Amino acid sequence: MAFVTGAARGQGRQFALALAREGADVAVLDLDAQIKTVDYELPEGSDLDKVAAEIEQLDRRSLAIAGNVTKEEDISRAVDTIIERFGHIDIVVPNAGIVSYGQVWELDEKTFDQMIDVNLKGTWLTCKYVAPHMIERKKGKIVCISSIYGVHSAPLVSHYSASKHGVLGLVRSMAIELGEYNINVNAICPTAIDTPMMNNQATFDRMAGGKAGGTRDHANKEFEKRQLLPDIGYLPDDACVGSLLFLASEDSKYVTGIPIPVDAGFLT
Ligand code: NAD
Repeated sequence: MAFVTGAARGQGRQFALALAREGADVAVLDLDAQIKTVDYELPEGSDLDKVAAEIEQLDRRSLAIAGNVTKEEDISRAVDTIIERFGHIDIVVPNAGIVSYGQVWELDEKTFDQMIDVNLKGTWLTCKYVAPHMIERKKGKIVCISSIYGVHSAPLVSHYSASKHGVLGLVRSMAIELGEYNINVNAICPTAIDTPMMNNQATFDRMAGGKAGGTRDHANKEFEKRQLLPDIGYLPDDACVGSLLFLASEDSKYVTGIPIPVDAGFLT
């Protein structure tokens, strides 16, 4: 049984489908959709409902949960519902995240707080409510999603970078606290991935130094400059699936507290 947050689109959707293909039942949470099982007839649905239906088509059980990872009551309720329906959680992927851009002196308090709330507090809250169920069974895999900007940084992303550095701190601390309960806690640090988060004009402008008129082509080239492997730029939206499946499986039994960069060599 796996639980993936931010699963309505992008990498979260790919993670949820990959886990289902490997045989896991998967509960998916995102900002929209009503709590429902796909056992019910799906109404004209949200993206999250569609992901849950895709999981069902793989002959796995699913549950689409509307929730905001920054709200403690949403996460507490989501985990209670999953335990009620499925009995346990083997794998959790706190993946929900946001990005925005601005110089340190341009950012307003609301933007900074929101970034830390979703990316860092949301990761912590998700782990806080899942961990006791894993501790009880002395078994579990926690795979958090940081970023290359959780290891190094770049202009215009100080608040994003701070949140993703925070995720790695959280991962190391959780690995220390949960190790004795046979729970592995690791992270993935992706470079630019071709999802709605990155495939938009604000990001292209950021890659053009914060100037209007940036293009995807230019953004690709900026990433390629630092990548060791040839002609990559943005990675496809399922690029991190292999690392996720490794960290969620018994193949990573002896691996805990580490970030795996999926970055075509960007950080080297
Ligand atoms: P995305 O924007 O395509 O998807 C993110 C999902 O998270 C969306 O469905 C969104 O609705 C959901 N979400 C946002 N705030 C939420 C909240 N408060 N509660 C519940 N759900 C919420 O982005 P993505 O690229 O798939 O990103 C997934 C993760 O990967 C994020 O943590 C992101 O920071 C990280 N990441 C992405 C890239 C990249 O280049 N795309 C690179 C490094 C790290």
